[in-house]
Amino acid sequence: MDLNAKLTILERMIDIYDQLVGEFDLACEKYCAHCCTANVTMTTLEGYRIFTHLEKTREMRHLETIARQSHPGRFRPRVSINRLADICARDSDPPEEHLDPAAGPCPMLADHACPLYPVRPFGCRCMVSARNCGEAGFADMDPYILTVNDVFLQHLEHIDAQGYTGNFADVMQFLTPDENRQKYADGQLGTAPASLVANQPMFVLMIPPEYRERIQPVLTQIRSIHV
Ligand code: SF4
Ligand code: SF4
Repeated sequence: MDLNAKLTILERMIDIYDQLVGEFDLACEKYCAHCCTANVTMTTLEGYRIFTHLEKTREMRHLETIARQSHPGRFRPRVSINRLADICARDSDPPEEHLDPAAGPCPMLADHACPLYPVRPFGCRCMVSARNCGEAGFADMDPYILTVNDVFLQHLEHIDAQGYTGNFADVMQFLTPDENRQKYADGQLGTAPASLVANQPMFVLMIPPEYRERIQPVLTQIRSIHV
């Protein structure tokens, strides 16, 4: 599948997700940004979409901000979500992940707003809460939404199976050199650099038994995307 087809699928998946989550009563609103931390992760496909957006809007200066302000203690996943699903399906222990909740704000955050908002990573989009996180002290997320999020994250990795997953700042820095972007667009990435992990296809979905029936219409919608 070529890159444009993958980007189109990504857009359609986002439309499906937004419609679905829009049916829940959420506290999320503009300038509420407690969830905008340095720990957000994404795929190379989403990073490529952001890069293209920055080129179109002539806001490439944001790449310098990301490079300059990326937090040294930012979360760097050791496995992708599809790899994690495989490990769990085999009843094996996944590697321990180290996420510092105090790693600081996302390097993109400016005046409590996101300059990338229309093209923000799915990891940001899927962070929703029924109560204001600042007041509650945590995100109050419906467990069904958590399952939906995993399903979307798994599909996103699947369509970007030849790419990488990593921290937002690391993916953007990887995609900044023309050479890396070209290799990615040509489907010719090699072994993942130390800061990122290789994506893989989805073999098993992480859906708890109690949601297997409820989530079927969502799966049907995702599977009906044809480009
Ligand atoms: S997830 Fe929490 S912090 Fe983020 S916008 Fe929603 S209520 Fe605000
Ligand atoms: S990319 Fe935007 S939405 Fe995502 S964490 Fe950063 S500022 Fe927030």
